[in-house]
Amino acid sequence: MILYDPRQAHSLREFGILIPVEESRARETFARLCSHPLLGPRRAVWHIDRIQERITREDLLRVHAPGYVSRLESERLEEEILRAFELLLPDGGWNRYDPRLARLPLRELFARILERAAGTLQCGRIALQTGFCFYFGGGMHHAQRDFGAGFCLVNDLVVALRRLQTEGRIRNAWVIDVDAHKGDGTAALTADDPTIATLSIHMAAGWPLDQPPVDARGNPNPSFIPSTIDLPIAAGEEADYNVRLREGLSRLEAEQPSADLALVVCGADPYEKDELPSTAGLRLSLAQLFERDRLVWEFLRARGVPGAWVMAGGYGRESWRVYAQFLAWALPQI
Ligand SMILES: [Zn+2]
Repeated sequence: MILYDPRQAHSLREFGILIPVEESRARETFARLCSHPLLGPRRAVWHIDRIQERITREDLLRVHAPGYVSRLESERLEEEILRAFELLLPDGGWNRYDPRLARLPLRELFARILERAAGTLQCGRIALQTGFCFYFGGGMHHAQRDFGAGFCLVNDLVVALRRLQTEGRIRNAWVIDVDAHKGDGTAALTADDPTIATLSIHMAAGWPLDQPPVDARGNPNPSFIPSTIDLPIAAGEEADYNVRLREGLSRLEAEQPSADLALVVCGADPYEKDELPSTAGLRLSLAQLFERDRLVWEFLRARGVPGAWVMAGGYGRESWRVYAQFLAWALPQI
């Protein structure tokens, strides 16, 4: 199934934020699937077009610190958004942000982010019912327990898993994160949780791993807390990427032999044509990305583990190609 609510389409530019997340990636991917000879006529079978879930304060409190949740609900929200989206430079200037271009106040972004997180929860639910769902949003894997980072204010992945666990729908889960950046928030939030095993394959260098290991107050930086399985790929090692991923998936299964649900953080940003400067350390071709996605799909199908996939990172005008090629292959099989 595809979970895509066209009404959810929005651009960060409406808020004056100039990060190149193109809404066209969802729209363009969907258009390609609709014009596919097998899929087009069967759209009603594979497309769910409404986000019906809601994320509550209780959902956030299962994952985030009470003080942080309170700040998000107070006048300090704007400060937290500025930090999470890295809009403020140390000298007080704006970074990839121009409030003069904003049509909407920054604080209104929070409701939209919660809607996105609701999509991830719904995606998990649909995957449990049908075996496969791909949500055209979600994947805010950098959000930490008491602060947001890397364009991620709340960690929708852990929020969704904890809600499904609380409802008794699932017990154990895997998070398979193939975004270019380490799934550091997810790793830190689940480090002491034996029910959630995480795999992250990511750039060995660069953000978030280029930060100081301790902050100005001497507190350890949670970005360095390991995932269950970390697979750092150095620049120039692209040819080994899928070999390492295959081995890593076997190790994940050895660590936690069963999962009731897998969340796949399917970032398109390892693509060689990605336009965000901080993704330059990994340059996979379309063919390598297709192999990546097929590998994860087949790994889950062979084990009968439902897969809830989210778009995560993917920047610039070309990233839709990564999603479209995989879905045009996978969807006709369900
Ligand atoms: Zn990323």
